[in-house]
Amino acid sequence: MAIHMQPGPIAYFEGKFVPVEQAKVSIMTHAFNYGTGLFEGIRGYYCADEDNILIFKLKEHVDRFIRNFNILCMDIPEGPQRIEEICVEVVRRSGFKEGVYIRPLCYKSELSLGPKLKGVESSFCCYVIKLGDYVDISSGLDVAVSSWRRLSDNAIPSRAKCTGSYINSALAATEAKQAGFDEAIYLREDGTVAEGSAMNIFMVLNNRLITTPPTADILLGITRNTVIQLAQEELGIEVIERPIARTELYVCDELFFCGTGAQVAPVRSVDRRMVGNGEPGPVSKRLQEVYFNVVQGKAPTYRQWCTPVY
Ligand code: PMP
Repeated sequence: MAIHMQPGPIAYFEGKFVPVEQAKVSIMTHAFNYGTGLFEGIRGYYCADEDNILIFKLKEHVDRFIRNFNILCMDIPEGPQRIEEICVEVVRRSGFKEGVYIRPLCYKSELSLGPKLKGVESSFCCYVIKLGDYVDISSGLDVAVSSWRRLSDNAIPSRAKCTGSYINSALAATEAKQAGFDEAIYLREDGTVAEGSAMNIFMVLNNRLITTPPTADILLGITRNTVIQLAQEELGIEVIERPIARTELYVCDELFFCGTGAQVAPVRSVDRRMVGNGEPGPVSKRLQEVYFNVVQGKAPTYRQWCTPVY
């Protein structure tokens, strides 16, 4: 689903805060031509009790962002601390008092020809938009296994959030929507399950939570890590990371997606086969409840994951 953008008035671009309409790049920019950008998607939740926006797992997102610089040979003057400050500042300058989505982006900003990485100058920018629920998280999604394969980590590194790699997501999501489904599940080249078009996948089978491993051509989601920890600590459920076969999607008890955008989104059917009884199952519902409590800063144990803006 394309999101109609309602941006905050101020973005960070070329080393300073500027009106968002002035944050523009040339058509000759390397990243525009070759997809050589790396980005993050971070949510901030409006917490009415505190009249504040709480940014969820800011540090973890910035950490993943910076680690992946090495894959694309990125080098920028802004360090992790400064990037965190900029993320908070673009939200603060928006004045928003509702759910937001922050998009830090590092891109090959040089005006140069040739798809290479080393020695091509990079820049950092950041903007914020308003964002509510991105997919239906209440009644369950109808999903289909995609005919498009998840890109291999050895082709375009799936563990990095590279701008160019989202062609893969767009192809899978478009195919699913055109066929009347809400979302897609990708298989890997070896035929096992990878993830959704922009979200990780979990299945409940015999009271265990199972998700695909970090080597399954997935983006190692921050929400995935959160769900694993909350399932173990709050639900006392065993979590197993192992390959998932396509047919397990048809026989499991529960299935859900998770991601910054998707949050915790139950799946009610796969390839027109009902998952469980076709309703969000007890584990998915309980995890959803715990997750929303945590992101809204209401769980003291996990409060350090929430960064207040104002
Ligand atoms: N996989 C892909 C391909 C994604 O784009 C996303 C969204 N960032 C995810 C998984 C979920 O990652 P996260 O929980 O860090 O948002």
